[in-house]
Amino acid sequence: MNVDPAEIQKFESLAQKWWDKDGEFRPLHDINDIRVRFIADRATIGGAEVLDVGCGGGILTESLASHGAVPTGIDPALGPLTVAKLHAVEMGLQHRLSYYQSTAEEYSQETKQFDIVTAMEILEHVPDFSETMRALADLTKSGGDVFLSTINRKPVAYLFAILGAEYVLNVLPRGTHEYRKFIKPSELSQAAREAGLIVRQVKGYSYNPFSRSASLVSNPNVNYLFHAQKP
Ligand code: SAH
Repeated sequence: MNVDPAEIQKFESLAQKWWDKDGEFRPLHDINDIRVRFIADRATIGGAEVLDVGCGGGILTESLASHGAVPTGIDPALGPLTVAKLHAVEMGLQHRLSYYQSTAEEYSQETKQFDIVTAMEILEHVPDFSETMRALADLTKSGGDVFLSTINRKPVAYLFAILGAEYVLNVLPRGTHEYRKFIKPSELSQAAREAGLIVRQVKGYSYNPFSRSASLVSNPNVNYLFHAQKP
């Protein structure tokens, strides 16, 4: 199985904090609008069947449902999924979305394919991202879109995403990220092409933990979003 149990444990132990906008997951809340906009500017969310891989507590999944999509969220961690299900009920969204405990690889064994497949901030927690990429491609309908986000393996990313975020500013719990698991845009692009996808765009985003705002930037030196399509 292409899952690292130590990674899952990190997210299990923090599951209760998922929807605390000032808690451990606050960067995910703060960056959510720009990633939804990134998707909305490149694909039609309204009415789309979306698979959100590694959905965690459902921050992105719920937003996509609010924008008219019919999302399915999958994650190997049960705690975050339980929180996601409860939160959807609280928001009255439970009939618009479904959550299952699964990975992209496992879920791709089903015959269903999706208009949009998202996998945000998960590939740097997966042992072999190329294997996940193949599953993401299998899960996408012909003509459909794949949206990813992850962190670049560059020294400047170590400085901001690990030293800055985990040790100086305490924006993220220590140990959230490991530098060697970060992925260069060229590596992600190659994996996407090898999985039969066409790479459309790589776009950096910057996050300011003081103003708690995020914006798209041209260079993908630290965090970046990635769009590919299945021909
Ligand atoms: N995608 C969500 C959550 C990101 S946190 C968001 O951006 O809002 C990272 C998530 O990846 C966690 O929920 C964790 O359980 C999940 N994850 C870790 N390893 C995974 C794997 N091998 N396959 C799918 N998801 C995984």
